[in-house]
Amino acid sequence: MEEMREKAGRVLGLLEQAYGRPQLRGKRDPLDQLVLTVLSQSTSDVNSVRAHAALRARYPTWEAVLAAPEAEVARTIRPGGLAGVKAGRIQCILSEILQREGRLDLTFLNDVPSEPARAYLVTLPGVGPKTAACVLLFALGRPVLPVDTHVHRVSRRLGLIGATTSAEKAHSELQALLSEEQVFAFHLNLITHGRRVCRALSPCCDGCSLRPECAYRSADEYRVR
Ligand code: SF4
Repeated sequence: MEEMREKAGRVLGLLEQAYGRPQLRGKRDPLDQLVLTVLSQSTSDVNSVRAHAALRARYPTWEAVLAAPEAEVARTIRPGGLAGVKAGRIQCILSEILQREGRLDLTFLNDVPSEPARAYLVTLPGVGPKTAACVLLFALGRPVLPVDTHVHRVSRRLGLIGATTSAEKAHSELQALLSEEQVFAFHLNLITHGRRVCRALSPCCDGCSLRPECAYRSADEYRVR
């Protein structure tokens, strides 16, 4: 474990040399972040931000989103893709929160410790560990690591987690390798690296600054599979 923690630290250092040290600037409202994260599933940031902006422009309140016909909400968020699925999911989440809390507001989570807050979020319909971690990190400012497709893929290739470790299990395994101060930069910089260099189908290993730390590259060089 200690060896892996040191490796994660070296990876973080190399990523910071390449992309700088990202800082969390301002926190979102927790419910707003939750909806934005649902909209971000299986699409680009540009598309999800566009869908989120359209949703907020059309409906002045979350109550209005919940009361609207599902097909109308789907049409509004169409730029984000999978609009029918996401509209239904957002309305289910809103309905559940209203039923539990009597209002559409999650700001009370600011006063809840991270683990119970995470446990609350993952019991909402369609909310998994990544979505919950995004709310904890970006809205509540907690040092909790979301593992998206880029973080998962690059971490496996680097050998920080096992080649067959699921994204769900990766949350706790990667979190254990990082200090609280490292979580935000690790998340953001690994996503940047996964988009620009360590792409799913065609990783640019030759120009990659993480080569010295990469198990995938080593396996390729020595033809060990
Ligand atoms: S060396 Fe290749 S596989 Fe390893 S992190 Fe870099 S791009 Fe990804």
